[in-house]
Amino acid sequence: MSFDSLNLDPILLRAVTRCGFDTPSDIQREAIPLALAGKDLMASAQTGTGKTAAFVLPALQRLLTPPARAGRGPRVLVLTPTRELATQVSEAIGELGRFTRLSGGAVVGGMPYPPQQRLLRQPLDLLVATPGRLMDHMERGRVDFSRLELLVLDEADRMLDMGFVDAVERIAAATPQDRQTLLFSATFEGAVKRVADRLLREPVRLEM
Ligand code: AMP
Repeated sequence: MSFDSLNLDPILLRAVTRCGFDTPSDIQREAIPLALAGKDLMASAQTGTGKTAAFVLPALQRLLTPPARAGRGPRVLVLTPTRELATQVSEAIGELGRFTRLSGGAVVGGMPYPPQQRLLRQPLDLLVATPGRLMDHMERGRVDFSRLELLVLDEADRMLDMGFVDAVERIAAATPQDRQTLLFSATFEGAVKRVADRLLREPVRLEM
């Protein structure tokens, strides 16, 4: 199977080729069609399986269609446990989105506030964030989630282990109920299961 059969826009396929990817990985083959069909997903996939492109490609594909709602806030939000992972996800978005004109940025802890404030004031397609810092901005009324269509929780088990259960739930509660949600986690036990039960709608479960 090749990427060509995944119903992705040619400008994304061109970027996939530029990245040197020939064949979709298992998680990509399973997750991309389901994500493109609008399903909620609970996927167990470790780093190294290609999980990042498995959510970045459907996210970019969605952003190539007109927004479902008017507004300026992000249409796609990716939450990650750490700044390092946020950087990796942002890099993957930059590479796979290189032939698009989509706008994105990151809002993470340990970095200065003013550039992030400026970012959040601009029209934005895609936002990558760590939950604590995003909550800070939300409490200051700086985040508009009225047109959010897709929420991705990356490495959800780590994120919840780090004490972000409350932040993740409050962020999700600030987004439209009819959004699509994709959750990636090494395990589906304990807090991950409880959060998944609350935030996902009839998820398809993928075990890689
Ligand atoms: P990840 O599991 O998302 O951290 O990705 C692990 C590494 O695999 C990254 O360096 C990706 O660039 C690379 N990668 C992702 N998908 C593919 C693919 N289909 N073929 C070859 N390499 C890939």
